[in-house]
Amino acid sequence: MPSPIAFVSRMNAQTEAVWKQALCAAMPEEEILCFSELSAEQKRAVDFAIVANPDPADIAALPGLSWIHSLWAGVERLVLELGDKAPPIVRLKDPELSRVMAEAVLAWTYYLQRDMPAYRENQQKALWQELDYRHPSEMTIGLLGLGALGTAAAERLRHAGFNVAGWSRSAKAIDGVETLTGDDGLQGLLEKSDILVCLVPLTDATRGLLNTDRFATMKKGAALINFARGAVIVADDLIAALQSGQISHAVLDVFEQEPLPVDSTFWQHPKVTVLPHISAPTSRESSARIVAGNIRTWRKTGALPETIDMERGY
Ligand code: NAP
Repeated sequence: MPSPIAFVSRMNAQTEAVWKQALCAAMPEEEILCFSELSAEQKRAVDFAIVANPDPADIAALPGLSWIHSLWAGVERLVLELGDKAPPIVRLKDPELSRVMAEAVLAWTYYLQRDMPAYRENQQKALWQELDYRHPSEMTIGLLGLGALGTAAAERLRHAGFNVAGWSRSAKAIDGVETLTGDDGLQGLLEKSDILVCLVPLTDATRGLLNTDRFATMKKGAALINFARGAVIVADDLIAALQSGQISHAVLDVFEQEPLPVDSTFWQHPKVTVLPHISAPTSRESSARIVAGNIRTWRKTGALPETIDMERGY
C-alpha cells in the first residue's frame, strides 16, 4: 500500500479543499491528504507531494520526499524558496495552459495593433480621430522565451499574419518563425520588434533583462507585453521609457509585488494597462488530470517527467 500523497499549499482552507477535490477526482486510486491532515507518522512516510507555492517549512517537515509536482507552470518562487534543499521538482506542462496563454498574447497584441489605448484616450477627450491602420504583415512581434508558452504564442501570432521572431537560450526551429539566441540574437529581436512579449522565466540571467539600455535599442514607440514575471523588467526604467515615448504602451500582467500596491505608479499611468496576473489561469480539471497522469506513470515505471534544472533556475 503506497503512502498517502501530501498536498502542500499556502491556499486558504476553502480554495485548498476545492483543489483537493479536483485532485482526488482525477486519481481516485490515491489517498491525498492536505499537509494539515497528516499525522506525524504519515509525515515521515510520505514520499511524494503535490505542491502549490508551499511553505518551505512544510516541505522540510516531509523528509522522505523523492520528488514534488507543482500545480503551476511558473516555479520561480518555489525554486527560490526551496533552493538547494529541494527534492526534484516537476512543473505543470499543460497544452490547455499554453492555448490560454497564446490566446492572451494574441488578444493583447490586437489591443495594441488596433490602437485601443489611443482610442480610449481619444474617447475621454470626445475626440473623433482616425488613426492609421497597421496590417499584421507590417508588424513584427518579438517573443522573449520560446518554451511551452512562447512557442504556442508564436504559432498563434503567425497564423494571425504577424511577422514573428523569438529568442531562447538554446536554438529552436519553429515553422515560419525567426528564432534567435545569445546576446546578438537578443539585440536583433529588440531592434525589430514593434511589440515585445515577455515569456521568459525569472532567473538570475533574466532578472532586470529589460532596462534602460535595452529599451534604448528598441524601435521608438514600440510596445511591451509582460506575461512572465515582474522582475524581468526594471520598473523605474520602464516608467522613464514610457515618459520619453521610447515605449508607447505597456501591458503588464505581472509585478514584483502582487497584488500591485495601491500606490504603484503603474495603476494611474496613462500608457500602462494593468492586469491582475490573469493572462493564463491554471485550469483545475486539466491541471489535476495532467498531474494524475504523471503520478500513474511514476507508480507504474518509476519514471519522472522532466524536472527543473536548479542550476539554470527553470
Ligand atoms: P519554459 O517552457 O521553461 O520556457 C522558457 C523559455 O525561456 C525557453 O524557451 C527558454 O530557453 C527561455 N529562456 C530561459 N532563460 C533564458 C535566457 N537566460 N536567455 C534566453 N532564453 C531563456 O517556460 P513556459 O512554460 O513557457 O513559461 C514561461 C514563464 O511564463 C514562466 O516561467 C512564468 O514566469 C510565466 N507564466 C506566467 C503566467 C501568467 O498567468 N502570467 C502563467 C504561467 C506562466 P530554452 O528553450 O533554450 O530553455
